[in-house]
Amino acid sequence: MKIKAPGRVNIIGEHTDYNDGFVLPFAIDRYVEVEASLSNKFVLTSKLYNETVEVEKNEKRGSWTDYVMGVVWALEQAGYRVEAFEMQIDSTLPTGAGLSSSAALEVATAVAIVKLMDHRIEPKDLVQICVKAEREFVGVRCGVMDQFTAVFAKKDHAILLDTMTMDYEYVPLNLNNYEFVLIDSNVKHELASSEYNKRRAECEAILKALNKRSFREIAEKDLAALESTLRKRAKHVLSENERVLKMVKALKDNRPFLAGCYLYESHASLRDFYEVSCDEVDFIVGFLKGRAGVLGARIVGGGFGGSVLALLRKGYTEFSFEELDMEYRKLFGKSIKVLHVNSSDGVLFSHFISPGSVNAT
Ligand code: ADP
Ligand code: MG
Repeated sequence: MKIKAPGRVNIIGEHTDYNDGFVLPFAIDRYVEVEASLSNKFVLTSKLYNETVEVEKNEKRGSWTDYVMGVVWALEQAGYRVEAFEMQIDSTLPTGAGLSSSAALEVATAVAIVKLMDHRIEPKDLVQICVKAEREFVGVRCGVMDQFTAVFAKKDHAILLDTMTMDYEYVPLNLNNYEFVLIDSNVKHELASSEYNKRRAECEAILKALNKRSFREIAEKDLAALESTLRKRAKHVLSENERVLKMVKALKDNRPFLAGCYLYESHASLRDFYEVSCDEVDFIVGFLKGRAGVLGARIVGGGFGGSVLALLRKGYTEFSFEELDMEYRKLFGKSIKVLHVNSSDGVLFSHFISPGSVNAT
């Protein structure tokens, strides 16, 4: 039995997911696909890593197998019996590129197991089990957005997700003649993970300083009480949350130009207030800005490298990617990589007849 789960792109709502905020992801047409069958032992194959491994239940190896065995562990923790299986993993989703291959692998694995074992499970529980696998078995402090998107996404829609309440709403992606394109800077600064942890600590310090339990209780006027660095960080989080809601309205109103403006605003806020951009990414955004056929662009992901998400006119822009690549190589000695992304369904719509609950039949 083959099950595939998609990667995702978050249109806007950066560094809001761990601050009780809003995010607006859509699933992309790149997938992790697993093929599983019952067996007398756990044998996992990754085509990507060209590796076949026999693993014990609950065995942590500090490698890609942990994402699969983490799901086995989390399912059992939640009371679902799991018997041994063989699994082949195939993928069209680059890893570590901010497209969330880890969540796609977890979700595809979880659905395959549920089907193999003939279990029934609510989609929201499926999300939580995959999140738990990554947080507690793999040991990555992830949010819920990636797994949620791999499960709930719907083609031609983004998902407005409230990470505090887990309420969600499908937002039609009215892009007319425009499309989202990812431009990978091919940069991953050493700083990325230490600065990410620092930002999280700063956000905790903001709550403490203002004596609030959640960013949702903070208003613009409260920020005056903060010292300047914390005030900048808080300003980003508050304004970014508002931008997510404004973006939703722009998409619903069929106003892609306005949507593009919010991408630029988000980038400026991430660069100047949250301070998570870098020269390479700023160059790409600056190169695009103001050119015909470009509506907007921003850094995506944790920061200090990674990709730029741009909203571009389909089939026509004033510049060519070759031209951008040439300039970029001259300045930074490396190439960009371009990925055109279309929306796709999550497992709920691609693998199940009834979207109410995951049906094992
Ligand atoms: P991202 O989720 O942004 O792609 P992560 O570092 O969170 O980056 O997850 C990437 C990890 O997920 C890989 O290092 C690997 O362990 C696992 N993974 C993703 N795709 C595959 C695959 N096709 N085969 C095996 N492991 C995979
Ligand atoms: Mg990941």
